[in-house]
Amino acid sequence: MSVLVYTENWDGKFKKATWELISYGKAIAEQLGVPVFALTIGDVADDQLNELGKYGAEKVYHVKGEKVSKFVAASYTHAISEVAKQVGAKVVMFDHNFTGRSLAPRLAVRLDAGTVSGVVALPSSYEPFVVKRSVYSGKAFVEMQIDSEVKILSLMPNSYKVSENPIPISIEAIDLDIADELLKAVPVRVEKIEGKIPLTEAEIIVSAGRGMKASDNWGMIEELASILGAGLACSRPVSDEGWRGHDEHVGQTGKLVHPNLYFAIGISGAIQHLAGVNSSKVMVAINNDVEAPFFEAAHYGIVGDAFEIVPKLIEAVKEFKAAQ
Ligand SMILES: Cc1cc2nc3c(=O)[nH]c(=O)nc-3n(C[C@H](O)[C@H](O)[C@H](O)COP(=O)(O)OP(=O)(O)OC[C@H]3O[C@@H](n4cnc5c(N)ncnc54)[C@H](O)[C@@H]3O)c2cc1C
Repeated sequence: MSVLVYTENWDGKFKKATWELISYGKAIAEQLGVPVFALTIGDVADDQLNELGKYGAEKVYHVKGEKVSKFVAASYTHAISEVAKQVGAKVVMFDHNFTGRSLAPRLAVRLDAGTVSGVVALPSSYEPFVVKRSVYSGKAFVEMQIDSEVKILSLMPNSYKVSENPIPISIEAIDLDIADELLKAVPVRVEKIEGKIPLTEAEIIVSAGRGMKASDNWGMIEELASILGAGLACSRPVSDEGWRGHDEHVGQTGKLVHPNLYFAIGISGAIQHLAGVNSSKVMVAINNDVEAPFFEAAHYGIVGDAFEIVPKLIEAVKEFKAAQ
């Protein structure tokens, strides 16, 4: 019996969300009295795999080979399902990101398992197994009971603290037989957006809306993001107008983000926007309308003209950094 954590890698590297996931898996494994194993697919160097041991993984199963060199949900599900059966996984865990959301339900069908997505805390009970998840775009929480023998969870990023539990880790390379029928649709070319902090990973996000009036006014928004090391986001009308790319659009129909700090500049705070950002740890709204709905959701609010406040904020951050 074990807890199995699917550790996604990006060009052979793990991210902070992976450490959160292993830390969370380790905490569950301790309660169940079983080991926690990691599983990764594709080319990853041994020094990266060894890092997984820092957070408590006793062993990493490394599935390699030409047929898994690119992400294909059907073949990856097959690989994870084979390893899960081999290690007698009682709990299988994913990040609640695009990959996890596509793999968890597929795996649930294969393993006849109950699955809960968007989990935000450790189980409140293990017998029966009860976990809390976020629902209604982060506006409410619900406790879910899973009664199947195998349980599948996807963990919301930024909802569990990374904790180090260093132990020696062993690596087992696995070369699985992947049937061609699992590779009916495969990616042939991937175009990456370079030089930007991925919003779903960002610790800080600077986001701006129609209050900025025109795309030409984004210089100060970019500067603020740059000095804070933040990701750049926008409201939907901004990307609909073509002021910014759709990759920056957050909200119900855009990306769901979970940073520690979210700046909303000239954004009214419509429910569809808040749906994508309201699980941020701290939200700061800057708006010249004291009645703007964002002020009800924000932890801190600045009432005033963004064209005066943002440059002052930039200066203040620069001064603060210079004094460090
Ligand atoms: C089905 C559906 C899905 C949607 N999905 C999304 C989504 O995913 N994401 C999303 O963002 N929206 C979404 N929307 C649109 C949403 O309803 C709002 O229309 C949108 O979020 C408003 O964007 P905004 O706040 O930038 O613009 P506005 O509503 O125009 O607000 C601009 C704000 O800027 C303030 N402002 C103006 N000038 C200044 C200044 N000088 N200084 C400071 N503040 C200033 C104003 O007071 C105002 O509050 C969706 C709508 C629908 C119907």
